[in-house]
Amino acid sequence: MLPEQVITSELAKVIGASGNLADGALTRTRTAHRPVTMGGSRLYLPGDRPYVKPVADKAQMLAGVPANLIQIAGGPPPGTRVQVEFTPVPCRVFALERLLDAETIAGLARTAAASARQLCSCGVRLPSSPRCRAEYHYDDRERVQTLVGTAPACEQCAELPGLLLNSERDQVFQNGIEYLAKVNGWEPSAAEIYAREAGRLAAWRSCRDWTVDLTYLETICVRLTADDVNRALARPAAATR
Ligand SMILES: [Zn+2]
Repeated sequence: MLPEQVITSELAKVIGASGNLADGALTRTRTAHRPVTMGGSRLYLPGDRPYVKPVADKAQMLAGVPANLIQIAGGPPPGTRVQVEFTPVPCRVFALERLLDAETIAGLARTAAASARQLCSCGVRLPSSPRCRAEYHYDDRERVQTLVGTAPACEQCAELPGLLLNSERDQVFQNGIEYLAKVNGWEPSAAEIYAREAGRLAAWRSCRDWTVDLTYLETICVRLTADDVNRALARPAAATR
């Protein structure tokens, strides 16, 4: 085998491509492999051509969002320190905690903590083993959830979305509201309206299929192949909690 052919076939293994890679076919085969799908949702992985935002125009991204959800879909109120964003149900299967091992997640959290000077967005000093929060961009028109970064979180901020997923009559939900109000300097009633709106937006987004773009991982040198994903998804749910 000629050295060039060896390199090309090795590259084909890495990017999951097959077939003829000669004469610039590489660019075409990069996205020609079968994408990982789950239900109606599909995944873009490192090595794939990333989803590119059609227009950096927020109004266009929000096209199709019901009028009563436009405000919350546009982002949190200015000055919000701790934001609450619930992942739409069809995207949860591709959550980083499910696809990456605990060691990789811990590494991402430590790197994010160093960039944030060891401070959580709520203002407290992070513990030596901080939690990791994935940051996503949502294009509601094209129905694409794009991983755009990772942020460190203290234990309480990391647990907050879980508290707010409980029934509004539950004390656990009320504890979450109190915490959200305290860290953002809001009245509890304002925090409750915000959390309810975020819940309505997630419920609406959950009724649609999504494309999840994790190509960002490539930029921070995290390897994740279709085989890794299939292995992670095949694990029993209990082992991934
Ligand atoms: Zn915090």
